[in-house]
Amino acid sequence: MDDGAKSRSRFLLPAAILIPLLAAGGFLLWQAARAKVYRRADYLMGTLVEITAYGGKARAGVDAAFAAMRRIEALTDSRRPGSDVARLARAAGRGPVRVRPETMAMLRLAAAYWRRSRGAFDVTVAPVVRAWGFEPGGKPRLPRRDELLAALRLVGGGDLILDARAGTARLARAGMAVDLGGLAKGYAVDRAYEALARAGVRGALINGGGSSIRVLGRPPRGGRWRIGLAHPRRAGEFLAVFLLRPGEALGTSADNQRFFMAGGRRYAHLIDPATGEPARRSILFSVVGGRAAVADILSTACFVLGPKEGLEFAARERARGLVYGADGRVRRSPGLSVSELNP
Ligand code: AMP
Ligand code: MG
Repeated sequence: MDDGAKSRSRFLLPAAILIPLLAAGGFLLWQAARAKVYRRADYLMGTLVEITAYGGKARAGVDAAFAAMRRIEALTDSRRPGSDVARLARAAGRGPVRVRPETMAMLRLAAAYWRRSRGAFDVTVAPVVRAWGFEPGGKPRLPRRDELLAALRLVGGGDLILDARAGTARLARAGMAVDLGGLAKGYAVDRAYEALARAGVRGALINGGGSSIRVLGRPPRGGRWRIGLAHPRRAGEFLAVFLLRPGEALGTSADNQRFFMAGGRRYAHLIDPATGEPARRSILFSVVGGRAAVADILSTACFVLGPKEGLEFAARERARGLVYGADGRVRRSPGLSVSELNP
């Protein structure tokens, strides 16, 4: 955070900071090769979302799924002045803002998991995310110490006040903001899942940039969906192949999704709200659960908590996790279904 480090970092800041897991070898759709499929990919919520569906209703289902995801994107994009997230930030310290039911649902989830994770998951971390330049469209960089401390003082999940009956949200102090980046993609994947199911699609895979996945039904040839997870340190290799049951979701947070290097150190977009610094105990944390929004939240929270506490937290939430720790060790929950592991 000193100026020397800042100038050194200039040479190390790569232009391509956004390296979604997909680009690094990605997630394989083993089953998709042969079946009659309809597949569409679209750039959405800062990542490439790909939906693959099978059968006669596939096309209508995929169209409806993308439309549902676009609606969530519009509510959560801080760069759109009219989004709920932008309106909430503008009214911080002034008064409550009426938000859409979906935004309220996301904020309520965020508040619940802020408590349950004892602050490891905190959407009010937004000012700190911005200080590091990790906001959408931002330029990742080392913040000055005073700048970081000022941002950290604006963080506090308890100062996000929700009135579900009135449909309003309020940030208690001026300068506060929320960043729904830790759960919005998962929430949108769940809305896509519902849209596909409503359209009568029996089998589909929704892949939100590799980091948020949910499957509908079974793959065309039956059995479980096999989802390959890119190794966070070895390009072109898999860390694990997950086996997902109908309806299950997989969320992954990793320090290679958005990061920069400075002074030989890696600085990633997952922030420990207790310190304002990038969390360092994990390299990658995947969580399998029943809902993509919750798997998304848990992967972020568990990443911050680190291997031991993260796996304990996942177990308390009846989810299963796989973590690649900063020590290079891979650990997982007892009930987790993986068919291959390549630590
Ligand atoms: P994900 O890739 O789903 O783990 O989400 C990472 C995104 O969540 C970051 O880009 C930030 O926008 C936001 N974020 C970072 N740290 C936290 C945290 N401790 N709690 C909640 N959201 C966070
Ligand atoms: Mg997440």
